[in-house]
Amino acid sequence: MPINANDRRIRRVVILGGGTAGWMTAAALSASFERRIAITLLESEEIGTVGVGEATIPTIHWFNELVGLDEAEFLRATKATFKLGIEFVGWRRPGHRYFHPFGQYGAALPGVAFHHRWLKARRDGLDVALADLSLATRLAAENRFAKPQGEARSILSTLGYAYHFDAALYARHLRGHAEARGATRVEGKLARVERHEGGRIAALHTERGERIAGELFVDCSGFRALLIGGEMGAGFEDWSHWLPCDRAVAVPSARVGETTPYTRSTVRPAGWQWRIPLQHRTGNGYVYCSRYLSDDEAAATLLANLDGEALAEPRHLRFVAGTRRTPWVGNVVAIGLSSGFLEPLESTSIHLIQSGIAKLLTLFPDADLDPALAERFNTLFSADMDGIKDFLILHYHANAGHEEPLWRAVRDMPLPETLVAREAQYRRSGRLILGPEELFRDASWLAVLNGQGLEAEDYNPLADALDPATNVAQVRQVAEVVARAAPTLPRHDEALAAILGHPVG
Ligand SMILES: Cc1cc2nc3c(=O)[nH]c(=O)nc-3n(C[C@H](O)[C@H](O)[C@H](O)COP(=O)(O)OP(=O)(O)OC[C@H]3O[C@@H](n4cnc5c(N)ncnc54)[C@H](O)[C@@H]3O)c2cc1C
Repeated sequence: MPINANDRRIRRVVILGGGTAGWMTAAALSASFERRIAITLLESEEIGTVGVGEATIPTIHWFNELVGLDEAEFLRATKATFKLGIEFVGWRRPGHRYFHPFGQYGAALPGVAFHHRWLKARRDGLDVALADLSLATRLAAENRFAKPQGEARSILSTLGYAYHFDAALYARHLRGHAEARGATRVEGKLARVERHEGGRIAALHTERGERIAGELFVDCSGFRALLIGGEMGAGFEDWSHWLPCDRAVAVPSARVGETTPYTRSTVRPAGWQWRIPLQHRTGNGYVYCSRYLSDDEAAATLLANLDGEALAEPRHLRFVAGTRRTPWVGNVVAIGLSSGFLEPLESTSIHLIQSGIAKLLTLFPDADLDPALAERFNTLFSADMDGIKDFLILHYHANAGHEEPLWRAVRDMPLPETLVAREAQYRRSGRLILGPEELFRDASWLAVLNGQGLEAEDYNPLADALDPATNVAQVRQVAEVVARAAPTLPRHDEALAAILGHPVG
């Protein structure tokens, strides 16, 4: 007898937690399954959310399109600004600055990758910095913004962008979309978890006595990891020996002047400070290592380094860098902080949420919960986390001239072998060794390797096939096109106001 697929489909998904992760999951599932699945989300206002997380990376466009967000409406609802990348202040050494842009360096020319052309041109005497080959970097420096457009030969096609937004407003916006598509929200605290005999979860019970049954449970309970850790016992791999910062203090400040289309990350004695411009305020925080700094000192340093008046009391947060190697166990899938955490240096947490959601959609199980799907999910998630981890460590480790204990410790610490190999290969041959699934691609690694002061001693020999004078002229021409294009593009606030339909502020 043919098996009726409908009989084995999952019918009820239960999400525990209504932070960014919970509502992103609810919005994505409700948009994708169109009421074929009942989605129930349990959250507790009393417990609240982590309440930070304002900077994103360009993969956010995939998610917003999946959910069907209109960009102008989303920008208005979340008080968002555009983001062209991150400015790193004092990371290589005190007083130094560099920019990690979204998008590409140079131009799309056939043959060897553009950065090898640049490395060769420099060997042949061209004095053009990497930053001069990135339109996004130039726009950020001039406080201008444009979206990528045009055919591959246009310099505008090399741009990439993301957003800064108010994470609480984003979650609220997504909640509206999810509820409009049938997702149900239950207010209350989890009291106990009911298990099937085989160990899978059958239902969540709230303190008020509701029973929320399902076949699949998504754990979006944040650092508490109540289902994946508490119930299913998935272990946590601690990476604090590589990423020792374990606290943050955050405070919003009044907006001053024009909004900037980039995040700023400034080195401080025991960590670094973020500055994230929104339409109505600026988000600030000091991420630090509690071994070297007290919470009070961190708050005082943050408050002394704001560019506008503080709008609230500083909020303190604690975390441990690390991951779960099995974020999917049985019928529980962890998405968000419950699955692991990497500090916000490259704004990767919201990306990891959406990448978890994408994997869950691709591998969405039937009620029999084929273990091969969980295994695949866990392998892919680990690869995501490992690649990002190496990239973050690079920022810390490649520093010179900082003599505070944190900065000496991270400079001298043993590195993951994968990062040692990547750095060595770049120094030796200018090559970037990346796995096919890695989030950060050539342009990002190049920006940070170069920005942190690692010099490539050679380039891909393929570039020797280029005529040296022609190559030098082509690379110089790209820098000239970038310099000419930037002043013709709108200021960031103008570009934003044109889409919002009203002035920024
Ligand atoms: C200092 C810092 C800065 C950050 N900056 C960025 C950034 O710039 N960009 C970025 O992408 N990410 C950033 N992040 C990460 C980002 O904040 C999170 O990834 C994101 O907010 C998702 O959190 P979450 O939804 O997993 O958890 P939470 O926001 O903690 O939500 C957990 C939910 O679970 C519910 N819950 C918990 N226990 C119970 C219970 N017993 N009963 C019922 N409900 C319960 C809570 O009520 C809440 O709704 C940052 C994180 C930190 C710590």
